Amino acid sequence: MAEQTFAIVGAGQCGGTAAATLREEGFDGRLFLIGEEPLLPYERPPLSKEYLRGEQSLERGFLRAPGWYEEQGIEARLGELVKRLDGVQRNLVLSSGERIDFDAALITTGSRNRRLAVPGFDLPGVFGLRTAADAERMREAALRGGKAVLVGMGFIGAEVAASLRTLGLAVTVVEFAETTLNQVLGPDLGRTIEALHRDHGVEMIFRDGAERFEGEGRFEALVTTEGRRIEGDFAVVGVGVEPVTEVVEGTDVAVDGGIVVDGSLRTNVAGVFAAGDVARHDHPVFGPVRVEHFDNAIKMGMVAARNMLGRAEVFDDAHWFWSDQYDAHIQMAGFAIEWDDVVVRGSKDERSFVAFLLKDGVLRSSFSMNWPRDVRRSMPLIKAGVRPDLDALKDPDVDLRTLLSKEA
Ligand SMILES: Cc1cc2nc3c(=O)[nH]c(=O)nc-3n(C[C@H](O)[C@H](O)[C@H](O)COP(=O)(O)OP(=O)(O)OC[C@H]3O[C@@H](n4cnc5c(N)ncnc54)[C@H](O)[C@@H]3O)c2cc1C
Repeated sequence: MAEQTFAIVGAGQCGGTAAATLREEGFDGRLFLIGEEPLLPYERPPLSKEYLRGEQSLERGFLRAPGWYEEQGIEARLGELVKRLDGVQRNLVLSSGERIDFDAALITTGSRNRRLAVPGFDLPGVFGLRTAADAERMREAALRGGKAVLVGMGFIGAEVAASLRTLGLAVTVVEFAETTLNQVLGPDLGRTIEALHRDHGVEMIFRDGAERFEGEGRFEALVTTEGRRIEGDFAVVGVGVEPVTEVVEGTDVAVDGGIVVDGSLRTNVAGVFAAGDVARHDHPVFGPVRVEHFDNAIKMGMVAARNMLGRAEVFDDAHWFWSDQYDAHIQMAGFAIEWDDVVVRGSKDERSFVAFLLKDGVLRSSFSMNWPRDVRRSMPLIKAGVRPDLDALKDPDVDLRTLLSKEA
């Protein structure tokens, strides 16, 4: 049989993991790993945490040592954008003009930060945070001290606020919703994060948004929709992300709120797969869903790689996420857009609890602050779609694992 060629588009967490899995699983054909950023795959989570605070080098977050890719015969094309991928003709074209024919391709182009369509958004000193280059710019500004003005208090905003406060900067946040992480957690749980930040001296203004960024050649102040003028040394915008799908737009590959894939991470075009932040996958428990989590990018990368080799593994992980803010370790599992019951185990006031989110009696998601064990233990329950006894959920002496066996 002729040597096969596989191409991975996007050299991030998911693409890098998939490349490693392909080699580990014995794929010995040509393997291209193409990334727009000039760096080999690295982890993004430290960018808002240890790296931003100057506690960790970027190299510590590299997925593999630089020499590893060459040793494995992985043909990395870095600083190269894939302009277009034609899944039917099975080729792709790079910004350099190079054309690569492939037998199978995996798209892991991730997501990009949403832009705010307001004046001054492009002023120097108005930062977003997605790449190492973004983090480097923000870190330089942060290490000079002063005051930061943040727009958005989702996970990225909350982590940046925590890191900047830890560095001693003054931080004011403007958030459209009624509290922090309102969309993901609802107001009651969202307020536990709000209280955490308030206790650490973050000034938070809710139900207000960005009207414009002002400054003479550089950011000086944010003017809000409610007419406030908040001065600062730099601004950070963290208002969510959107999937990067241009590479297949206008081709036969289906795009609908992400690149559409089935449970095995296959697109509608044979030989073309998608995984990670960009993939809207058909999850056996949650239905069609696109999530933006580190752990998901790793696990999906592994499953996609194995399926490129001919397996038919279904990606059915319960989804798991973590965030570190000050001394609070936060974890979340599952996926819930709506829920009708929240059961708390532990104490929200003491910031040591796990909350279970249920819909029609079925456990859909769990969220913890400094109580990670039960998030982990809830994952098999979420995956199995169990209807747990609420008193048992509430009782810290009940081992969640026993609820699964009871159900079974
Ligand atoms: C600051 C920050 C902190 C985070 N913290 C956490 C955390 O604490 N916990 C957690 O679970 N998750 C966290 N995340 C989310 C997590 O990092 C992402 O879910 C994960 O990086 C997704 O991996 P991915 O490979 O799908 O996409 P990405 O990491 O976005 O990688 C995609 C890559 O593809 C490249 N690319 C795009 N289009 C093309 C093209 N046409 N041609 C070539 N290359 C292309 C991009 O430049 C990028 O390098 C964080 C993210 C950020 C930004």
